[in-house]
Amino acid sequence: MFAQCAITPTLSKGYTWPPSSTVSIVNYGVPSGDLQTAASNWSTDLLLGFSFSGGSVCYSPDFTTGVGTGETINMSFTTIPVESNPPGGSDNQVSGGVPVVRGLTDLEHATFAGTPARLYVVAVYINSAMTADAAITEVVAHEIGHTLGLADCNYPGCAAGSSVMEANAPVSTINGTSGQPGPTSCDVSSVLSVATDYLCPPPSPPPPQCCPYNFFTGGCTPCTSPIILDTDGHGFHLTGAQDGVTFDISGSDHPIQIGWTASGSTNAFLALPGPDGLVHMGSNYLAISRHNRPLITRTALPRSLFMTIQKTVGTATV
Ligand SMILES: [Zn+2]
Repeated sequence: MFAQCAITPTLSKGYTWPPSSTVSIVNYGVPSGDLQTAASNWSTDLLLGFSFSGGSVCYSPDFTTGVGTGETINMSFTTIPVESNPPGGSDNQVSGGVPVVRGLTDLEHATFAGTPARLYVVAVYINSAMTADAAITEVVAHEIGHTLGLADCNYPGCAAGSSVMEANAPVSTINGTSGQPGPTSCDVSSVLSVATDYLCPPPSPPPPQCCPYNFFTGGCTPCTSPIILDTDGHGFHLTGAQDGVTFDISGSDHPIQIGWTASGSTNAFLALPGPDGLVHMGSNYLAISRHNRPLITRTALPRSLFMTIQKTVGTATV
């Protein structure tokens, strides 16, 4: 794992590859091992997401080498004029006090596709004056970073070695290194903060289990919790679900087969009937949400208590 870096400045989402794209890097003379190392580092590290705390990564692009269809980087190993400095595309390094451009991503002439538009084809130039694998690899990795919405991370504000987007750091020769052969965790976080559609979708909330309405709280509770009364102290006699009834216990218009008071028992559900005097659904029950289970009284309750409950039912806690 690489050292932490300053947050790399970013461009916009439109300068990044579409989610789940396979980006073909067509190679025109770049040492293939160096190119593959840099491309693989990006593919792997984006997918892992490093320590990115915004969520896991599901739809990051994958970089492959060779001719493909669709999203493409045409990468050439060639001479680069010093004066080249298109927006978001230069990689100036100081070599013996003389600025050199070791790599260039020509976003100015890139093509974009899709709605909304994302990067489609872009040319990248790697300075063929470089001969050292480490230097070539870090420049290739740097230029790939430019195709993922990252701008240069300029020295000295961006400490040498802290970002794949390191730029303008002093190196003794054109073969010196100042960046990284792949993205740091900070670089990955920067990409994912821009290309937010690389992230996995948030998990869908669990469906409501039972009761969509709680009489006392006025909101949802996980389960209906009816109160069952033993009206004469002879104990509770309930059926299993199989021998019970089909009833809309949750008040959700979805009746289910549930247990019930046994036939002939003197148990009763405590309920507030509707205007027609009938109990049609579970939301008529006086549910007590903190229990989240049926509350069964241990003793017979005097009739006066029912009257009290009925009188204060608008605001009461039972
Ligand atoms: Zn650059």
